[in-house]
Order: sequence, then structure tokens, then C-alpha cells
Amino acid sequence: MKHSLIKIDDELCTGCRRCAAVCPVDAIEGKQGQPQMIHSDKCVMCGQCVQICSGYASLFEEYETPRDQKMRERHMPPAVNEPLFAAYHTGDYPKVKAVLDNQNAYTMVQCAPAVRVAIAEEFGLPLGSLVPGKLAAALRRVGFSRVYDTNFAADLTIMEEGAELVQRLTKGGTLPMFTSCCPAWVTFIETRYPELVKHLSSCKSPQQMAGTMFKTYGAQLDGVTADQVYSVAVMPCTCKKFEAERPEMNSSGYQDVDAVLTTRELAYLIKEAGIDFHSLPEESFDNPLGIYSGAGTIFGVTGGVMEAAIRTAYEMITSKKLDNIELIQVRGSQGRRQIVLDLGTMKLKTVVVSGLKHAVPILENLKKGIADFHFMEVMTCPAGCVSGGGQPKMLLPVDCLASHQRRTASTYQHDAELLVRKSHDNPAIKAIYQEFLGEPLGHKSHKLLHTHYHVSHPDH
Ligand code: SF4
Ligand code: SF4
Repeated sequence: MKHSLIKIDDELCTGCRRCAAVCPVDAIEGKQGQPQMIHSDKCVMCGQCVQICSGYASLFEEYETPRDQKMRERHMPPAVNEPLFAAYHTGDYPKVKAVLDNQNAYTMVQCAPAVRVAIAEEFGLPLGSLVPGKLAAALRRVGFSRVYDTNFAADLTIMEEGAELVQRLTKGGTLPMFTSCCPAWVTFIETRYPELVKHLSSCKSPQQMAGTMFKTYGAQLDGVTADQVYSVAVMPCTCKKFEAERPEMNSSGYQDVDAVLTTRELAYLIKEAGIDFHSLPEESFDNPLGIYSGAGTIFGVTGGVMEAAIRTAYEMITSKKLDNIELIQVRGSQGRRQIVLDLGTMKLKTVVVSGLKHAVPILENLKKGIADFHFMEVMTCPAGCVSGGGQPKMLLPVDCLASHQRRTASTYQHDAELLVRKSHDNPAIKAIYQEFLGEPLGHKSHKLLHTHYHVSHPDH
């Protein structure tokens, strides 16, 4: 699986190997004190090396490659005034900027749950500031025609994934089922454990479900065609760029997500437009693809997909109301948490994993036939998407930890503040099934919202 999204600038790399220590797949090689190299075949593009790297271009040193050339190679706008670090990702900033500058372009943007609890840090606000209203306002000010939300599609994912889990449990199908929202995790399974690909849910990630919905249902609502829509995702994750470019992600007939900006890249756009983030008013995301539940927003933290799925799957299976919806047992920072849920007719055994390394012993046990659970959520980054490789960068480990904790706390606060907290109670979700999709796992939703995976093993 070749790509060149994540790079190390050997003029700037000090060889400290902090990146190698955080890489979950041992993709970074090099001697201490010498420039490092990334094995693109192993790398899952999580961007954790980009987050941790502290080797930077000093103002007092001359480099063979001038700063402006380095910035062009990194796809950074010339106005950005920040250090250039050795480990970096290339970006979609220039192509999004060019489309926004075109007055005739019809643009739709989605914003992931982990962005609204982190973007404000780029403008000097306290770590973990929760700013959905200012974020929506900023996206309008930089020129997007429609300001939608990945959280809506997270609710859609739960409808499909919950139904898929119930189907596998009651009618037969591969168990345990793995979540498929984290593209680095999906890439890891495809490349390292191809024999386990069938355990992945066939659901597309919320980013890709949103992209498909924009160019089909959303285009229909706005009286435009799929080819007229330019669809942008703002994500905390570097690997989302890779996911958007997968050839199978074109259910609308076109690439469903045309470009992905990280949280840091969106901050470039806002800064370059001269917007004063602090004084922005509180605005709402557009209807209907911007309406979401608390379950949609907790997708941004480790355990969130599981908690959101259980809020819906419990009610699907038992036809009873789940009163205590805050599933504290799946929250937390340990690499592995388990919860057994009493569904009356069965005990649903679930596992939540954050950090790919913690998934490996479970996968090895599964290969030996000794795994005893039904459903597993895996997120590659240490605290889930809130600590993704595209988030605002912290230089000190103590700030990293604090930012992860505060972004997580703000995510749960956002859930608690919302009136609707279960995906199946979201009125916009009910409407989209009634008016457009039919039913979860139905013909149309299967065509638009599900996918298949790449395997290297001939038997799978
Ligand atoms: S953390 Fe940065 S400076 Fe240190 S070895 Fe990795 S790329 Fe080089
Ligand atoms: S992007 Fe992630 S997987 Fe790739 S080298 Fe960096 S830390 Fe390792």
C-alpha cells in the first residue's frame, strides 16, 4: 500500500526517535542521531509521528532548501507563520483554497466531532474549548456554500452498524464484528491481518457516508447535480485523506469526498482569511445534514462509537428503552476496556481498544480461536480522534495529555447538553430513511453506505 502522505524532512530530523516510540506499527527506521525513514508499506498514516516531532527549522540556521520551498512542498499557505517540523503531512489546503476562490463553485463541508473541541486552541483559547457555533460561523465566513456535519453521518453509521451487528447476532454472520470508522485501523487489518478482514463492519466511516449523502440526497435538496458539488471534510486525522481517495469511495458516481483538511489546515484557511475567531457569532450547522445527536458527537473519543452503538443496538434488540445511556464502563484511557451488556436473551460482550498495539494480542487470540466477545471498537490514536494526527500540535508531553483530557471532557459535555442523545431518535435521521434511504441495510443504504475491503490473502 504505497502512499506519500506522511514524510520526514531529513534536513530537519535530529534523529531523536521520539517518532519511532509512538509509531504503532514500527514503520520508522533509522539510527539514533541520524535522519529517520518511514516505510510506506508499513505506515498506516495515523500522523502520531507528526504530532510528537519536535525537530524544527531554526531561524538561525541556513538550510539547503529555502523555507518557502519547504512550505510549498508541504502545501502550506505562504502566510502561515509557524515552525516547520521534521515530520509532517502534505495537505489539501491549496486545492480547497482554489475552489473556495471560485465564485461559481458549489461547496459542501462536513466537520468531524473532534474538530469542535480542538480548533479554538489554534487561536489561543484554552485547551479543549468547545466551539461548535463559532466553527460553523467560521466555515461560512471562509466561503463554504453548505456547512454540514460529520456528526449527522455518525448517527447514520450507528443506524447501519447497529443493524449489521443485530443481523450478525441473530441471523448468523462473522463474529466478533469490528468497527470500521478508523481508516488507520482498517488499513492495518487489510495489510497485517487480511484473514480477519471479514470481521470488519461493512459500514463506511461517517466521513464517507456524509460525502455520499452530500452528492446524492444533499444535491437533490439543493437542486444541483453530484458533479456540481465539491465536498470537503474537516478532520482531526491525517489518514482520512487516504480514505477519501480510495477508488471504491465513489457511490455518488464521483469521488464522494473531494478533499480533506485537518484541523490545523482549517486554521490556516481561517487565519489567511483574516477572520477574528474570538469575535465570531454562534451559528448553527445547516439542515438537515447538520443535525446530530449526542451519540454522533461522542464518536470523537475512544469508546464513543461503542457507547453510541449500544444506545441504539440495545433498543433494537430488546425493544426496551435504555434509561442509563451514559456507559461509564467504556469510557476511560486504558488501552483496553470490556463491558458485558445484559440484553435479556443474551449477554453482549464488547471490547474497546485505543492504540493499535493493544489490539494485537486480541487479534492473535482471535486467530487461535480463543477470543470471547461479539463486538470490538478500535481507534488507532491514544485517546481516539481527539488526539488524531491532524489536531493542533502540543510540544510538551504534559500539554499533550492535558489537551487529550480536556478535549475528551468537552466531547462528553457536548453530548450531555444535547436534547437528543441516541442516533435513532435524531429527527433528521428518521426523515432521511423515510424520504430517501428506505431502511437500514436496505438496497439503497447498502449501495450508498457500505463498502468492501482490500485483502492480500488469496483465500479471502
Ligand atoms: S521525532 Fe522528528 S526529529 Fe525526532 S527522529 Fe522523528 S522525525 Fe526526526
Ligand atoms: S503516520 Fe503513524 S504509522 Fe505512519 S510512520 Fe507516523 S506514527 Fe507510524
